[in-house]
Amino acid sequence: MHVIHIASELAPIAKAGGLADVVFGLARATKKKGHSVQVILPKYEFLKIPCTPVMQDLWSYDGADQIRNTVWSAVVQDIPVLLLDPHHPGQFFNRPMIYGYPDDVDRFIYFSRLSLEFLFKSQNRPDVVHLHDWPTSLVAPLYKEMYIPLGMRTKTVLTIHNLQHQGVCSSQNISRSGLNLEKLISKMQHTSPQYFNLLKGGITYSDFITTVSPTYEKEIQTVEGGCGLHSLLSESQQKLQGILNGIDTDYWNPATDPFLKTHYDQKTFKSGKSANRMALRKRCGLKNSKGPLLCSIGRLVSQKSPELIHYAVEKNLSQGGQSIVLGTTPHPDVRAAFEKLSQNENVFVHFEYDESLAHLTYAASDLMIIPSLFEPCGLTQMIALRYGCVPVVRKTGGLSDTIFDIDTSQKPANERNGFTFDFPDRAGVDWALDRAFKLYQNPSDWSRLVKQGMECNFGWDQSAEAYFNIYVREKAFRI
Ligand code: ADP
Repeated sequence: MHVIHIASELAPIAKAGGLADVVFGLARATKKKGHSVQVILPKYEFLKIPCTPVMQDLWSYDGADQIRNTVWSAVVQDIPVLLLDPHHPGQFFNRPMIYGYPDDVDRFIYFSRLSLEFLFKSQNRPDVVHLHDWPTSLVAPLYKEMYIPLGMRTKTVLTIHNLQHQGVCSSQNISRSGLNLEKLISKMQHTSPQYFNLLKGGITYSDFITTVSPTYEKEIQTVEGGCGLHSLLSESQQKLQGILNGIDTDYWNPATDPFLKTHYDQKTFKSGKSANRMALRKRCGLKNSKGPLLCSIGRLVSQKSPELIHYAVEKNLSQGGQSIVLGTTPHPDVRAAFEKLSQNENVFVHFEYDESLAHLTYAASDLMIIPSLFEPCGLTQMIALRYGCVPVVRKTGGLSDTIFDIDTSQKPANERNGFTFDFPDRAGVDWALDRAFKLYQNPSDWSRLVKQGMECNFGWDQSAEAYFNIYVREKAFRI
């Protein structure tokens, strides 16, 4: 089996969120199974990895313009990666960030067409092409409308990591891909005829669609969770499956993690976490303290309820605890609110993406607060468990599928692993955190809960198996 991921992110070299971890984890699991896997990624200017050119002159299209590109090959851990480097006057990927530019749709429309042009001209014929979210969704319509007629016979699988971002664009944007707009109107039109929706195109044209947890699969078929695409997703039920993301348990392993001060496992977590807590305090300028250390790691955007994270930090302070917030945000008001909070000597806030600080924070912390409005899967709660940090989460999406409340879950007592609340409001946070603080006062009960969390298995094995079943089934249907 030969699988190619076409993606905008790949951990750890190009990461904006969980999508990067999933491409990395799934590609490695595929390789471990003995299959052939490659990842096609833009050659972002910030990638500082050794690479060699494999194709100097790959010509592709931007509307009527022919553009020259170079293709490089690299290896990330043990995953073969192909980096596409357009010599485009728009300097599409010679920029410091992955997303966040006014021409993002043009950048990824160009990349989608270029990826297929590369596969076609290099005669690389995978059994399955695996696409991820809106940035590479257009590969599916391009493939069906333009490359099948040229003789390509690959199957396409699209994973929806977050339905909120859909790549809405104008007819001018999409016509630059070379697709015939007349044909696309009914399949890719957004709310009005002048607008197109790249993710909708991916959903309509892909052979199979997955999303990142079983609960999110149900939620996206409802008006509340479907972001305008619920009817289409319900109609596509036959080719839709929710598969819980895994985490790479080699990479996220407190017993070997090179970013930690001290390694530890399920037997030594008390002393191990304590040593890492001291190291984190030193690094962040926090003094010693006896209260719980609460953390938040993630993008501070409305999906993640930053105002409730703020509230949880304040509440933790009132209990004599300390907090660390590690997160980027595009919102100046959110930044200002957390900056103000960080004036307290028991709060440390860091607005950068910092991999090493994230690892140390998971290892040092007692509690992680995740009050999301919606959460397709969420990785931070699974990583937190593995590092002995107890998640306090709002019950939604993948958080519902992974965190089982110590008091209210239907699971056997020894499989419960955290605290949950139903509604994303202060009363919900109060209810969960008050119970957490109470349990924290009882060291033996607390240690039992930490240990149970560390024993949970969220590795890729089971999830990868579900993906392989889809790959094999789709391959068997190859025309
Ligand atoms: P999302 O994909 O919605 O951003 P996830 O929980 O699925 O959220 O994945 C977030 C991933 O990004 C985790 O691996 C987390 O450790 C990491 N992460 C988020 N923010 C930061 C940050 N500021 N510094 C380092 N890692 C971060």
